Amino acid sequence: MLQCTAVTVVPFVEALLALATMEGGPEHPPDVLAQDDFLLCELGEHDEAAEHAAHIWTADVPDVERDLWLLWAGTGAHRVYRFATLPLCPALLRDLVTRAVTSCAYLDHHPGPHSWTVTDPLGDLITQHIHGEVQRLAGDEDNSGGNEGP
Ligand SMILES: [Zn+2]
Ligand SMILES: [Zn+2]
Repeated sequence: MLQCTAVTVVPFVEALLALATMEGGPEHPPDVLAQDDFLLCELGEHDEAAEHAAHIWTADVPDVERDLWLLWAGTGAHRVYRFATLPLCPALLRDLVTRAVTSCAYLDHHPGPHSWTVTDPLGDLITQHIHGEVQRLAGDEDNSGGNEGP
């Protein structure tokens, strides 16, 4: 599953206002965002009907897991956006072998799959390229009569 490729320019003044008024927000909001910053949708590829979501800030409040997200739909003049403080998705991925627990990094009720199944398109492209190279090299070895059993 690839990551959504939507990007949007941050609505700067509204973002500062949202940061300044949220519970557990940063002491100095302009440190968090710069004017003309672009934010990338962090979700996996999703339906156009669902809003894109970019994480802006993790609230610094004990026992409260609330993050500020920019949610938007559409592009350019048709863009509609809102800021929302939302809890994180409660889903956990447990690795039975390593006992590692990975929590989903997205907002609660997000569209599409959980964060651990989403890969960065560029990273994926590189991996694919390497994989192809390995296959090509392995194929060459096979042709030269290599005898590698399982
Ligand atoms: Zn998106
Ligand atoms: Zn999730």
